[in-house]
Amino acid sequence: MTAAAETEKDDRSLSDEDKHRLVLIYGILSRTYPTFEETDDPWITNGLSATPFHTLVSTCLSTMTVTARVVKACVPLYEKVSNFEDLASIGDDELREIIRPVAHYNRKTDLVKRMARQIIDEHGGEIPQTRDELMELPGVGRKVADIMMNFEFSEDSIAVDTHVLRVLNRLGIVNTTSSDKAADIINTETPPRFKRHAHEWLIQHGMKICVSRRPKCDDCRLTQHCDYYAEHACT
Ligand code: SF4
Repeated sequence: MTAAAETEKDDRSLSDEDKHRLVLIYGILSRTYPTFEETDDPWITNGLSATPFHTLVSTCLSTMTVTARVVKACVPLYEKVSNFEDLASIGDDELREIIRPVAHYNRKTDLVKRMARQIIDEHGGEIPQTRDELMELPGVGRKVADIMMNFEFSEDSIAVDTHVLRVLNRLGIVNTTSSDKAADIINTETPPRFKRHAHEWLIQHGMKICVSRRPKCDDCRLTQHCDYYAEHACT
């Protein structure tokens, strides 16, 4: 592919060939991975998404942090707080100590407390249910907003985190370092029947097979449809 074509690919919808490839990829992923509800994923079993409140706070705390450490912070946190009033009231020092296992816990202490206050003051204690309103909350970016829309507010939406971004780039479906740009492309181009669970399949693939340092191409069912595999002749 020429440099011009690479650049063009960032900014436009997918070619018909890539759209077809994406459908084949989703077909394989859907037959390979369970949905989160069908798994004993520690995120689910530890109640990190027990209610919309839990999903929002857990997801905000999860940035740049592996699930085990999010669980380590959230389980004791949810023994202390169960709504935004509780979260706004807890002392900064106490909250900081509880969420110390997650990355950037100092900054996240400030962000989730300001988020709680804003939800109370501007939304009567209820989480706003539009992407734009969600993204006006402190600590909420595109990924968190897409997760909330998909898992809590029934607007099928594919959240792009570091794992999903890596998989999409290696496959050659996107060619960008911007998770927001990748989210725009993949949300536009994914057929509706796949959107509900696409994030779940892609993130599992990124965590189990298409891992960061050395993708396990030998164990991957997507080799036929993968640009990285074609270019690197993985064996
Ligand atoms: S073939 Fe390799 S690089 Fe491509 S999706 Fe599979 S694991 Fe990732």
